[in-house]
Amino acid sequence: MRFVDAVAGFGVTFGTMFKKPVTEEYPEKPGPTARRYHGRHQLNRYADGLEKCIGCELCAWACPADAIFVEGADNTDAERFSPGERYGRVYQINYLRCIGCGLCIEACPTRALTMTNDYELADDNRSDLIYGKDRLLAPLTSDMTAPPHAMAEGSTDEDYYRGHVGADGLTVR
Ligand code: SF4
Ligand code: SF4
Repeated sequence: MRFVDAVAGFGVTFGTMFKKPVTEEYPEKPGPTARRYHGRHQLNRYADGLEKCIGCELCAWACPADAIFVEGADNTDAERFSPGERYGRVYQINYLRCIGCGLCIEACPTRALTMTNDYELADDNRSDLIYGKDRLLAPLTSDMTAPPHAMAEGSTDEDYYRGHVGADGLTVR
C-alpha cells in the first residue's frame, strides 16, 4: 500500500512536468493585471483640464482604513481649479494603510476618484508611500489646459458634471 502511495505522489510530479510553466518573470516582465484590478488611485480631470475633485471628503469618510486626507478650498474667479464652488486643495492617500477595497471610489459623487491597474507601490520608507496630488492627478493631455483657468464660456458646473464641455473649452450640448 505504501508503494502505491509513493507512485501516486510521483504521478502528480510527472503530470506537472509536462504542463506549460506558469512562472512569471517579475519584475523583468510584469504581467497584465485583471482589467478591474484595484491599483493606485487617480484623480481625474474634465476634458479642458479642470479637476473633477470638489474637496467634499466623502471618499475620506467612506474609507475603513482612514487612509485618505482631504482639505478643500474655495475656487475664486481669479484662481479656479474645478467647476463649482470648491476644489481639493490638499489630497493625500496613505498606501501604508490602503487595503484596495474601492469604497472610496464608490463614494465619490463626481467620479473624480478612480483606481488604475498600477500595482507597483512598494517602497523602502514611509513618507514616499503617502501620495499627494502631484502623483495622483491624471496627467494633462495635449488638448487640456493646466488649472487654474476659467470655466468654458457660458457653462455651468452642471454642464461639466454631465460631460457637456469639450476639450476646446466649448460647451457641447
Ligand atoms: S481603496 Fe479602500 S482602503 Fe484604500 S483609500 Fe479607498 S476606501 Fe480607503
Ligand atoms: S475624490 Fe471625490 S469624494 Fe473625494 S473629496 Fe474629491 S470629489 Fe469628494
